[in-house]
This record gives sequence, structure tokens and C-alpha cells, in this order.
Amino acid sequence: MEQTFDAEVLVIGAGIAGLVTALSLTSKEVTLLCKGSLGSEASTAWAQGGIAAAMSSDDSPGDHCRDTLAVAGGIANETIAALVAKHGRDCIQTLIDLGVLFDHNDGQLSLRKEAAHSHRRVVHANGDSTGKEIMRALTLKVRQSPHITVLENSEAIDLLVSDGCVAGSAIYHEGQTHLLFAEATVLATGGIGQIYSATTNPLAATGDGLAIAARAGASLKDLEFVQFHPTALDVDAIPRPLATEALRGEGAHLVNETGERFMLSEHALAELAPRDILARGIWNQINQGHKCYLDTRQSLGHLFLEEFPTVFGHCKAHGIDPVKELIPVAPAVHYHMGGITTDKQGRTSLPGLWACGEVACTGLHGANRLASNSLLEAVVFAKRIVEDILKKGFNPHVTRNFNADDFHFPTESVGEAEAVLELQSLNYRHIGLCRDEGGLTTLICHLEGLERRYPSPSQRLKNIFLCSRLVATSALRRRESRGSHYRSDYPTSSPDYAVPTTMYIGECWSHPNPTGMPLAS
Ligand SMILES: Cc1cc2nc3c(=O)[nH]c(=O)nc-3n(C[C@H](O)[C@H](O)[C@H](O)COP(=O)(O)OP(=O)(O)OC[C@H]3O[C@@H](n4cnc5c(N)ncnc54)[C@H](O)[C@@H]3O)c2cc1C
Repeated sequence: MEQTFDAEVLVIGAGIAGLVTALSLTSKEVTLLCKGSLGSEASTAWAQGGIAAAMSSDDSPGDHCRDTLAVAGGIANETIAALVAKHGRDCIQTLIDLGVLFDHNDGQLSLRKEAAHSHRRVVHANGDSTGKEIMRALTLKVRQSPHITVLENSEAIDLLVSDGCVAGSAIYHEGQTHLLFAEATVLATGGIGQIYSATTNPLAATGDGLAIAARAGASLKDLEFVQFHPTALDVDAIPRPLATEALRGEGAHLVNETGERFMLSEHALAELAPRDILARGIWNQINQGHKCYLDTRQSLGHLFLEEFPTVFGHCKAHGIDPVKELIPVAPAVHYHMGGITTDKQGRTSLPGLWACGEVACTGLHGANRLASNSLLEAVVFAKRIVEDILKKGFNPHVTRNFNADDFHFPTESVGEAEAVLELQSLNYRHIGLCRDEGGLTTLICHLEGLERRYPSPSQRLKNIFLCSRLVATSALRRRESRGSHYRSDYPTSSPDYAVPTTMYIGECWSHPNPTGMPLAS
């Protein structure tokens, strides 16, 4: 029997963005939806490096902002970058107040240096287990907060939209579709890593929030910008375990099987170059038939276990002893800079809907994200969204003219698992580190073939289909290379494209087919 739920505020997703939003709305009745159990299936839990914030006396928000803009390919929003950097210190304090225990040295917060940061400014917890500690503290607080009702193992299917306003969401809960009405809805569903075959993201990261907002008609931004982490462990695992950036910050080198430190000839900052440059450096080596490794033997040696217990555990689980051996690495999809367009209060283009965390595109990252900026961005915007909802964002007269039978939650059909694997591999090849018109068009043709083969896809496949199409269409449009978006047919940046890309769902079905190739069946 389907039910109707009511909430003053509905928060969809329980990573750092959703949890901080829900916890900060103490004067409202909040319903918090998560796909798995509370605390599971969130990228946040796996964050190793930490949170960037200008905390030391020789650092400043101005320097943090400059570093953020320097790697962003010239299209980040400067106002947003300044705003996020300015709130770094407050956000660390917010997390401390919520119970997060960060690492200290001599009574001061311990700060690490990471790639492309001009100062040591990455606050961390339990060495490289920052995300785990954040989730421990925030989920504990949520359990203790009477204003929050948690619906676990519950999935948002589609938003309830009437006259262009969002009035909640249709959800799949305990084997049925239900309607959940809310006066304000916040999407905080994380990234899209699982549309690719090699990713560091958890299984839940199938781009649900992006697909849901797209279907509701929201404006979407910068979808072509997908960041690869250069040093995921090159082992047989889904998702791929990460060897954090901080290892290179502490002096680890990248070498190939001949022992050559190949990044020395690629960039002045060698192993501390921006992520896209490192990832392509490794990609080029792999394409030339080399194997790539992280060498921590000199820089960390026996300190590895104490300083980086999580990576040490991943290495050991795959039979690698990083104290004595090289760690095999390869790039894997890690973070989506693009997402649902939001303004500086976290509002989307649809009244009643806010977006926060990785699913949103605030403009902070532009074409490339500075390491450890995403957790900070999520906290800054969670607080701004709460402020906005409390101030005037409420829509107390939500329309209830919906029927649960109009929303379906199709489950997986026979053969679908293979279709997902096929599409994930195609995506890794064609909307990965190196793109070109032929590859992108081929991908869209294959996608159309798959959509015809699976006319009633499961909810998961439906979202993967749509996110793949959105990213491919956006990548096809940007006929230049910038930040994480590299086109081998347009290898340089063009002033004509020095702006963010904005699009709506309808545009990805009207893409030009520049090669004139027939559609695959
Ligand atoms: C391995 C790894 C290491 C990282 N290290 C760092 C780091 O050191 N510093 C840094 O700043 N960033 C790091 N990042 C990036 C950062 O962790 C993420 O960008 C950030 O945690 C995203 O937070 P979020 O709250 O937006 O999403 P998530 O933490 O991914 O949470 C998303 C939530 O939405 C839920 N959800 C998804 N779909 C639905 C649906 N349909 N219905 C209901 N719920 C749904 C999920 O179950 C989950 O609860 C790392 C990422 C990874 C994968």
C-alpha cells in the first residue's frame, strides 16, 4: 500500500552535503533520504586527503582563491571561489562543533600540502581517513537529532514538479513507490563516477540527482568536465581504491617500469602538477605500453602505515607492501565538476529545489577542481542553502496533485548488467581523458542502440543512459581543450569557449551528428 509522506524540508542524499544541510535545519522537520543505510554509499566516507582551508598564519583566503582559480582553466566563477575560500575557517569550525575530530600537531590543527596548493592547508583526520571520521561524527549527530527523520534504503525516482515548481519527490521505499511532499527539496546525491568502468566512486554514484533534475527541466552546467584521479590503484577492483594526493605532497614519485620519473619532463611541478596534467601524463605512458607506479619507499618508508593507514590497508589487501614495493597506479574517474546549475545561495533554476555538494555546479571548480576543495564547497553551500530556506525559500502551499501510479521504479531486466558494463567501458574510452568528435559521435550512436535494446530500462540504467548522453553532448559541443576536457582534435584552448557550458535536457536529443554516421542498431 503506497503512502504519502510530508516534510517541511526533504534532503535527498546523506553524504557531507546532505548531512550538514539536514543537521543545520534544526528549526524544521527534515526528512533525509539515502539510497543505502545511513553512512554507506557516499563518496564522503572515502575522502582521504582532507578539507582545504586557509588556516595557517602565512596563508590567506586570497591565496586559497588564487590557487583554486589557477587550476580551473579560466572559467571558474571568481566570486564563488572568493566566497568559498573566505568561509574555509568557519566551515572547519562547523565540522568541529558537529563532533569531527581532526588531527593535531602541538595543539594546532595539522595541515598537509597537496598538489597545486601554495600552502599547507589540508585539514585531515586519522591520517588519511578524513571522510570516515566526518561520516562517523555527522551520522551520530543525525541519529541524535529529533528534527530529522531518516528514510534508509530509499531512492528518489523523480521530482514532483507542478507549474515549474518542485513540491517534493517520488521515492522508492520498502518495495513501493510513494509520494513525499516537501516545502523545500535539496538534492545532495553526489557524483556520476559509476557511469564509467574505472572509478573511485561508490556504487550509488550513478548520477541519479543529475538525471532527476535534468528530467525535471533544471538548468545544467559544465557537464563535460570530469576529473580523473591520476593515482587510483591499478588493481582488479570496483570501485578502484585511491592512493591519495597527499602521498605526492609528502614526496612520493611517479615512475614507470624503467624507473624513469616521467612527470619531470611534462610539467615544472612534476608530481605536484594539477590533476588533469598528471592523469594525462600517466595515460600517455600507459598508451605507450608502460606501467606506472607510485614510489613511496624513500619519502615515507616505514612511516607509511602510521601516516596513511587507509592506503596501506588497500595496498595490503591487493598483495602490495608499499614500504618495500612500488604501487601500481592508473587514472580513474573521481569527481564531476559539472552538475545542476546553482547560484550563490545554492538555488537551482526550479523554484523549491536547491542542490548541494558534487551534484551541484556552483562554478567553483570551472574546468578542473583543486584537490580537497569539494568537501569545503559542500559545507559552505549547505550552510548557505539552510540560510536561504530559512529566510524565504519556503513554499508552504505545495501542490498535491500527483498520483504515485504515474511514477515507476523499474527493476533490472535480463542482460542489463552486461549493457551497463558495455556502456561504462564506452564512456571510459570516449568521454574519458582524451576525447574527439569521432569517438563522441560513436558513443552517442552506441547509446542510441542500447536505448533501443532496453526500451524499459531499470531506474539505474535509465539514469546512466541519461548522464552518459548529457556528458557526451556537452563534450561534443566544446570544440577545444580546457582543464579536464581534452579534445585530441582541438588540442588547444580557444577564447571562443572561455565560458561555462549551460544546457537543458532537450538539447541532448538534438545534437548534430557531425560524422553523418548511421545510428547503431
Ligand atoms: C575515494 C575518494 C576520495 C576523495 N577524497 C577527497 C578529499 O580528500 N577531499 C575532498 O575535498 N574531496 C574528496 N573527494 C571528493 C568528495 O569526497 C566528494 O565530492 C564529496 O564527498 C561529495 O559529497 P556529497 O555529499 O555531494 O555526495 P556523497 O558523499 O557521494 O553522498 C551522496 C549521497 O546521496 C545518496 N544518493 C545517491 N542517489 C540517491 C537517490 N536516487 N536517492 C537517495 N539517495 C541517493 C547516496 O547514497 C549518498 O548518501 C573524494 C572522493 C572519493 C570518491
